[in-house]
Amino acid sequence: MNLNFYKTKLEEEKKLLKEELGSLGKVDETGDWEAVPESEMNTQEVQDEADMAERNADYEERSIKLNSLETRLGDINKALVKIDGEGYGICEKCNKKIEEDRLEANPAALTCKDCMEKIF
Ligand SMILES: [Zn+2]
Repeated sequence: MNLNFYKTKLEEEKKLLKEELGSLGKVDETGDWEAVPESEMNTQEVQDEADMAERNADYEERSIKLNSLETRLGDINKALVKIDGEGYGICEKCNKKIEEDRLEANPAALTCKDCMEKIF
């Protein structure tokens, strides 16, 4: 297995994810991401209740997007740790090797095809 190939793919995706996360919110010192409404990204003052409602709706929407990106980033970080250590490409459920074509489609995959089908 060509670990460097997967590592490069993971690092590229990580970079893109961080850029996307950075456009939706900010990260605190513990590495947790929090959504920031677009109006506040542009440092505008919140003025009245209509603005507040819009702000909240905007915040919700951005939070949902941000959370899914953050989960993906977590998977990628986990895979990168395994590449540098050991256990990359090994299914977390059954300890068998993860199929190469599955890893090519998703280098951050933590389970083999069989186990993935059991989950969904
Ligand atoms: Zn498995």
